[in-house]
Parts: sequence; structure tokens; C-alpha cells
Amino acid sequence: MNPVYTKLGTTIFEQMSARARATGAINLGQGFPDGRGPEDVLAEAARALLEESNQYPPMMGTPALRQAIAAHYAAHQGLDLTPEEVIVTSGATEALASAILALVSPGDEVVMFEPLYDAYLPLVERAGGVAKLVRLEPPAWRITAEALAAVASERTRLLIVNSPLNPTGTLLTAEERALLADFCVSHDAIAICDEVWEHVVFDGAEHRPLIAEPGMRERTVKIGSAGKIFSLTGWKVGWMCAAPAIAAVLAKAHQFVTFTTPPNLQAAAAFGLGKDIGYFETMRRDFQRSRDRLADGLRGLGYSVLPGSATYFLNIDLAASGVDMSDVAFAQWLIEEAGVATIPVSAFYAQDAVTNVVRLCFAKQDATLDGALERMARRP
Ligand code: PMP
Ligand code: GLN
Repeated sequence: MNPVYTKLGTTIFEQMSARARATGAINLGQGFPDGRGPEDVLAEAARALLEESNQYPPMMGTPALRQAIAAHYAAHQGLDLTPEEVIVTSGATEALASAILALVSPGDEVVMFEPLYDAYLPLVERAGGVAKLVRLEPPAWRITAEALAAVASERTRLLIVNSPLNPTGTLLTAEERALLADFCVSHDAIAICDEVWEHVVFDGAEHRPLIAEPGMRERTVKIGSAGKIFSLTGWKVGWMCAAPAIAAVLAKAHQFVTFTTPPNLQAAAAFGLGKDIGYFETMRRDFQRSRDRLADGLRGLGYSVLPGSATYFLNIDLAASGVDMSDVAFAQWLIEEAGVATIPVSAFYAQDAVTNVVRLCFAKQDATLDGALERMARRP
């Protein structure tokens, strides 16, 4: 067997979901809502499925969706992207894979930040890239100029940054955005910005894209996902936006990864992106309420909840909660003994992991959250 393949394990999300299915645990591990999603977006997908072509759409995405993505970012983030700068992909996961395959050559150094989303490192390494990891720590998970300088070299080619950040639920500050932009410009590096959580923000926080920073318009790949915008994580409609010179290279990889994405889901995403601001506000308000419900419940049980204003996730600090166990041991105990699945945050580190933080998904119905809290009343 090719030994490289043995390096790729099964992701923690699938491991925990499989175990939750097997044991009947309440699944607050893998991030997905347990609601139906917006009815009008579902109806548009059904209509397009029955009434429109189900043959290959154009390789770059349907004109309607590319147009809708550009218009959406103009309206919501003040960006000046053109439809030609948008490539539709089969989820943000495909966008990440295509972008990394397109932009990383063997020996290129790729700066990434831990905790890091599970797909980044295996993709970079399979492309022959050399990971340069910056370690972030709770409770603030901030990037410093010193830490960035320590990983820079003349081989720095790419930076992959996720904001809002999964698993922490934090957003880049203005200082961090300026720091990252300066870094990319001064090292002539491209930034792959994974912004799938851009709309899932709370407490009045606002997502600001790195592509809007000085010098970044021509050197950023901005990645988004309809799955997160419409609470339909199984849909796998994503996109990557970049200036024409980069987009042309991204398209070369995308054509051989998936080539295209189901046309009815593209039609529904195009429809949904045009929804008025009320939809986005309601989504945020509802998720914020769920976050507060779970956070308050956990605090009531003596858990220390770390601050976070985005994503579907909140985190508990085990040491500060008086739990003398590693995150992996606690997550194991919780799923097997109490019947609640979570994600140990050390799974988001490749080295020198933070081992006292556990992630819980709050994007659930009240009854699901209350059921989990009831089970968690039993502490190890
Ligand atoms: N990036 C991040 C940071 C994510 O959290 C996720 C999914 N939760 C993805 C990418 C994948 O998105 P998609 O389901 O659209 O492939
Ligand atoms: N992004 C989801 C999470 O963080 C999982 C997606 C997946 O399972 N690949 O839970």
C-alpha cells in the first residue's frame, strides 16, 4: 500500500457522528442544524429540479448563480466582484481542494493557523506543500505579528485563513486583518480566505472580508458556502471568488475535480442569495438565541464557556470548569457515559495541541439542546 494514504485518518466529525448514530447519543459534535432550512429556497430547488435542465451546467457555474454571488457581496460586504470572478464549486470543501491544488506546488510554504479546519493540512500536504503552522491559544485565539514573522520565509507562497473561525467562533480583528494583508503583500503571497461562516455572526459582530484590505483585491481567494447561509449543510454548493488572473488558474483545477455542481441547487442558491436582509437577521437572531440557551445551561452546570460570536459552535474550557481530564478523554466519557457527542478541539491541531477545550454545536432545536443539558447534568 502507498504509505501516504495511511496518513489520512477518518475525520473527527465522521468519527463522532458515526459513534453518535451507533450509541444513540445526542449529536452536538459535527456542525449541522436540525431544522428544515428556508421553505422558499427548498421550493426553488424542487421547482428547478422538475422544470429545468438537469444536464451539465457550465463549468464555472450557472450565470444566474455567479451573478447572484457577485450582487450578494456588493450588497452585504460592499465588494466590487464581477460574475466572471466567481467560480461555483461543490461545497466550500471543493473550493478548498481546487484552490490548494491550483496554487500549491511541491516545496511551497503554506501558512495556516491552529486550530485549523480538518481539510486544510491533508490537502496542502498531498499537493506537496510545506505547512507552516501558527498556534493560537484560548481564550482570545489572537494572531500576533511575532508569530507570523516566525513562520515567514522566501518560500512563503500562500496563507490559509478561516474567519469566522471554526471551532472557536471568533472573528479576525481589524488589527489582525491589517497584519495578514501586510504579510501577504510583503511576501507576495496569496490568501485563501475560508469565509463560510460569514453570515453566522452574533452580538452585533460584523464579518469583514480580507479581500477588502489594501493590496488584497488581486491576491485573495474568497471562499463561501450556501450550506451555511441557508442552514442546509448537505447541499454542497460553494464558490471561490478571485481576480481574473487567479480565477483562471483556479478554474483549471476545478474542471478536473468536480467540473460542475447540480443545477437545481445552483438555482436555489441564486434565489436565496437575493433574499432581503430580514432573512439574514432572523437566522442570526435564532442561532444567537440557541447559543445563549446552551451557554446558559452549561454555565448552570458549572462549565466555563469561552467567548465566541460566530459559527454554530461554543467551547467549554475544561480546566476552568474543574474537569481534570483531557478534551479527548472528556469527549469520550461524554458520548459513552452521558450520551452527548462533542468535538475535542485538540483534533484541530497537528502539533502541541490545546487539550482542555471541547466544542459543542448549538445549532439545534430547543428540545435537542435541553435534552443534551439534561444528560450533561451528570459530570465525570
Ligand atoms: N470550511 C469550514 C471552516 C467549515 O466549517 C466547513 C463546514 N462546516 C467547510 C469549510 C465546508 O463547507 P461545505 O460543506 O460547503 O463543503
Ligand atoms: N464543518 C463541519 C464541522 O465543523 C463538519 C463538516 C464535515 O463533517 N466535513 O462540524
